[in-house]
Amino acid sequence: MSNFIIALDGPSGSGKSTIANILAKKLKISYLNTGSMYRAVTLFFLENNIKKSDKIDIDLLRKINIDIKGDKVFLNEKDVSEKIRNKEVTENVSWVSSIFLVRKYLVDMQRKISQNKSIILDGRDIGTVVFPNAKYKFFLVASSEVRAKRRYEQNEIDKSLEEIQKDIEKRDYLDSHREISPLKKAEDAIEIDSSNLTIDETIEEIINKMDKEDVL
Ligand code: C5P
Repeated sequence: MSNFIIALDGPSGSGKSTIANILAKKLKISYLNTGSMYRAVTLFFLENNIKKSDKIDIDLLRKINIDIKGDKVFLNEKDVSEKIRNKEVTENVSWVSSIFLVRKYLVDMQRKISQNKSIILDGRDIGTVVFPNAKYKFFLVASSEVRAKRRYEQNEIDKSLEEIQKDIEKRDYLDSHREISPLKKAEDAIEIDSSNLTIDETIEEIINKMDKEDVL
């Protein structure tokens, strides 16, 4: 069996990471959550008081060492897996991820991590920019109402359902309107709307679109 890449893109809260996690275990391949890398850089910026107006150069980025081990994320050797999900990081990740050098730095890292293995990556630009030649490309969507409801039920954030939906719509807008690598379905990606699907049904849809040799 030869190695293959699955690009799983889509807006915030569409269930990408849940689906990618299960799929990776099922197919016995690696998994990389690229959103957590943008979140780790955002946390570094916040902790070091780096502002939108500051000059971001490669020397600064070299000080950011990100390591991913299983579902744990390390920033300069410190486990930040929980911290990168907090409100402040979530509110700032869109501007940090729109910086060209940040994207270049992380995309290079994502390509390096994915060498010589079969892997599923979830994000916003995997099928369009990071791996335009990926063997499989999926674009997972769901209505903002459904996505907000899922987040709300996970009880992660101390906000009302309406506030969560507003936040999600704002991040969708920022992610799809930024100049560099906006959130966009690759032309050859298969779109899956999970609004009315369970996790198992979504996974089944994906597996049904894959070659038999890759899912055995
Ligand atoms: O997937 P998650 O919601 O954790 O991603 C956080 C943010 O990181 C997104 O809202 C987006 O701004 C950014 N991101 C990105 N490109 C990716 C993955 C995430 O710009 N490939």
